[in-house]
Amino acid sequence: MADSSCADCAFFEDHKSNNKADLSDAGLCRFNPPISQPSADARGLWPVVKNDDWCGHFDAA
Ligand code: SF4
Repeated sequence: MADSSCADCAFFEDHKSNNKADLSDAGLCRFNPPISQPSADARGLWPVVKNDDWCGHFDAA
């Protein structure tokens, strides 16, 4: 699945994390809205995926 990995997907935000820390081999998936909210006054969390992860929503555009 090397050609359809998160690193090559239009929805991947490279090197970003939910707490603004740099990630060396991971980033945020922006395909869906945030998946959870730890507390009522906290921000929602985006899914963190590795560069070589993949899923069926891959989009090269
Ligand atoms: S999880 Fe799917 S939609 Fe999200 S960045 Fe990876 S391949 Fe793209």
